[in-house]
Amino acid sequence: MEENWKVYVNGEIVPLKEAKISVFDRGLQYGEGVFEGIRCYDGKIFKLEEHVARLFDSARAIHIQIPLSKEEMKKAIKDTARANGFKNAHFRPMVTRGVGLKLGFDSKGMNKPTIVIIERPIIEELYSLQSGGGIRLAAVSVRKIPACCFDPRIKSLNYLANILARIEAQASGADEAIMLDIQGYLSEGTSDNVFLVRKGALYTPPAQSALEGITRQTVLSLAKRGSIPAHEALLSMYDVYSADEVFVTGTGAGVIPVIEVDKRPVGNGKPGQITQQMIELYAEEVKKGEPF
Ligand code: PMP
Repeated sequence: MEENWKVYVNGEIVPLKEAKISVFDRGLQYGEGVFEGIRCYDGKIFKLEEHVARLFDSARAIHIQIPLSKEEMKKAIKDTARANGFKNAHFRPMVTRGVGLKLGFDSKGMNKPTIVIIERPIIEELYSLQSGGGIRLAAVSVRKIPACCFDPRIKSLNYLANILARIEAQASGADEAIMLDIQGYLSEGTSDNVFLVRKGALYTPPAQSALEGITRQTVLSLAKRGSIPAHEALLSMYDVYSADEVFVTGTGAGVIPVIEVDKRPVGNGKPGQITQQMIELYAEEVKKGEPF
C-alpha cells in the first residue's frame, strides 16, 4: 500500500521509495529538528495555520531558520495532500538543522535545513478504545524536562523521554502515561494533553508545563462557547484520582476518554458526560478545516 505514498523532500514530491535524505542529517545524528502532527478529516486539513505557526515557533526556539514562508509551508503540505489524495490522513512535516558532514555539533554556517513532509492515510484510529470505551493511564517515573533545561513547548524531534514514559506505562498494563513535572505536578501525556472534570468544570495544567496542544486550545475554546467553566491550574495525582472525569486531547486522536488511572476507575469507570459532550463538539469542529 505504501508503495503509492508520496513524500515531500526539500521542495520535491516523490514516491516514498525515492524519498532520500542524507545519513549525515543532524535530525538523525542528534534528533536536531522540529516537527508537527496534522490531521486531515474528510478532505479538510484541520488547524493548518496553527500547526504551521507552532512549527515555525519551535524551529526559531532551536535556531533553525526555515527557508520557506509560512504560506509556502502551508502550500507544501497541501501539495503533498493533493499528490496523495487521502481524504483522512495524518501529516508529519519535519524540519532538521540539515546535513552535518563534520560530525560535530557545531551549527555555524549551517543554513540548509532539511524539510520533509510525510503523510499516511488514516484507516484505523490511533487509539483503539478498550472495551470500556476509553483508555487506561499510569503515572510514570520519567519526569517532564523542566523549561529551564528544554522548554516543553518546543515540539522537537527528540521524543525519547516521552517514548520511555510510554514504554513504562504500557509495561504496567496501561495504554498511555501521565508525566509529572519535577515538582510532582501534572504535565501531560506522551503525545497528548490531560484534562480533568470536577464538579462540572474542566481543569488542565498551565500551557508552560506541557506542549501547547492545539487540540487543548480547541477544547478550551469549545468549553467557553458551551459555558463550561475551564481552568488552567497546577494539579497533582490527587486531583486525577478524585476527578469525576478524565480525558486526553491530541491531534492524532482528538478527545479520548480515560476510564482508569493507576488501576483506579475514573468516576464510575465509564466515559463521563462532559467528556462525551467534548467528543461531539470536537467532531463538529473538525469539519471546519481547510480544503486542500
Ligand atoms: N503533548 C505532546 C507531548 C504531544 O506530542 C502532543 C501531540 N502533538 C500533544 C501534547 C497534543 O498536541 P496537539 O493537540 O497540538 O496535537
